[in-house]
Amino acid sequence: MEVRTTINTSSAFFGHFINGEWITDQNTIPVVNKYTYEEISRIGSASRKTVTEAVTNALHTFQTKKLDSNQRYEILMRAAEIVRERKEELAMILVSEVGKVLKDARGEIDRGIQTLITSAEEAKRIAGNGVPLGQPGNENKMAYTIRVPVGVIGAITPFNFPFNLTLHKVAPAIAAGNTVVLKPAEVTPLIVCKITEILSEAGLPAGFLNVVNGRGQETGQYLLEDERIAMYTFTGSAAVGRQIKSKTGIRKVTLELGNNSPNIIHKDVSDIDRAADLCITRGFSNAGQACISVQRVYVHRDIYHSFIAKAIKVAESLKIGDPADSATDIGPMISEKEARRAEEWIQEAVQQGAKVIYGGERQGAILKPTILVDVTEKMKVVCEEVFAPVISIIPFDQIEKAFEQANHSAFGLQAGLFTSDLHLAMRATRELHFGGVIINDVSTYRADVMPYGGVKDSGIGKEGPHFAIQEMTDEKLVVINL
Ligand code: NAD
Repeated sequence: MEVRTTINTSSAFFGHFINGEWITDQNTIPVVNKYTYEEISRIGSASRKTVTEAVTNALHTFQTKKLDSNQRYEILMRAAEIVRERKEELAMILVSEVGKVLKDARGEIDRGIQTLITSAEEAKRIAGNGVPLGQPGNENKMAYTIRVPVGVIGAITPFNFPFNLTLHKVAPAIAAGNTVVLKPAEVTPLIVCKITEILSEAGLPAGFLNVVNGRGQETGQYLLEDERIAMYTFTGSAAVGRQIKSKTGIRKVTLELGNNSPNIIHKDVSDIDRAADLCITRGFSNAGQACISVQRVYVHRDIYHSFIAKAIKVAESLKIGDPADSATDIGPMISEKEARRAEEWIQEAVQQGAKVIYGGERQGAILKPTILVDVTEKMKVVCEEVFAPVISIIPFDQIEKAFEQANHSAFGLQAGLFTSDLHLAMRATRELHFGGVIINDVSTYRADVMPYGGVKDSGIGKEGPHFAIQEMTDEKLVVINL
């Protein structure tokens, strides 16, 4: 029998959240602790009927209920406050279901608070443009644009930053006056269920946020097939992004996809220790499972050996193990299967001539941070998204060659360059073909207010609350005959 409640009374099960109520489901999917492999909860597996019900509800809500910009601001600010009060509890959910180390889990919760606050502020700043009609024949007319919400947004989110990346979709969507049907990653859905409850507690009325749990190939597909959804916002792999684009016709999509981020260390780098420290810590944090994780490091040959010695030293200092221990730097990957896949890529590279100079071993889902040298552009660890704690260090002689190799990728999300030459830095901003070029920091740098999104296979459209709201609203023209 289907049970409906406004609060999930059992932490052992989350069904689907529709019209402000949790509904149960006979079909369930286990959620496990990524370090101990214990089952910690179960979620529902939404059928086409459940997805249809969620979309019907989101559409009805969009058509019949309105929140003004002050109400949207208040709800999102209140949600930020609740998150702040419950920070430790939320961080521990990330430790458990993602395998994220505690210090990074706390960091993700802090970032999510900022995403909520910035979205709240942006709710008050949504504006169109004046349109000068300075052509003959238009003397008696004035024109301007307004920005209006698109309607129902279908949001599909990944496992690696399930708190902040979900908020990067839900908070701007609500700030802009839309309603949402959200499908979280099935391996890390619990934190998303908590976000849902927190937004309700903060005053978000029933129907504005609906959550359908389930697998991508089933529940995700049903969501793509419902033509009443006006726009999709997706973060995940390029392979799934491509499917979403092909299934959604002329409806709007934003796709935040993968990368194999290059970082160039020129010989005039002002602080080689800092560059090595950033490359290693940012390349290995979250067990390398970040879309802008440092993957390819191009180092000028004059400083190549010294950089490698420093990089190994930093890697040796990282503590690997239990993510719940506040001293741990690197925890497990999302699954043993993914860790095995990365290990196979390393072994394949070694068979093709690469050398492991640090790490390479795996135990269960924990892959020891790995540094490779003597790689070639054709190896998977270089040319594909490795999405694991695996960094390749590659020497270069001419900066032109480093730019060429950095650009030689199907992806284009963010790239980093370390140099003290202002002209070279300016040149890099023009010549590196990426959505973002970071000078004197690594590709992994992201402030949650900034426009964030890639070119080529890294996706379409931008996130960051201000920019997401541009995507999640239509610019409507108004002409007035005076
Ligand atoms: P994924 O593509 O496997 O899954 C992402 C989401 O899509 C999940 O909710 C999944 O259930 C759903 N999904 C899977 N198949 C689907 C289908 N056929 N139809 C509809 N939905 C489907 O990605 P992941 O493994 O969760 O995350 C890792 C990927 O995400 C990496 O490639 C990473 O680079 C990328 N990522 C990008 C950004 C960014 O902002 N650019 C941020 C984080 C992660």
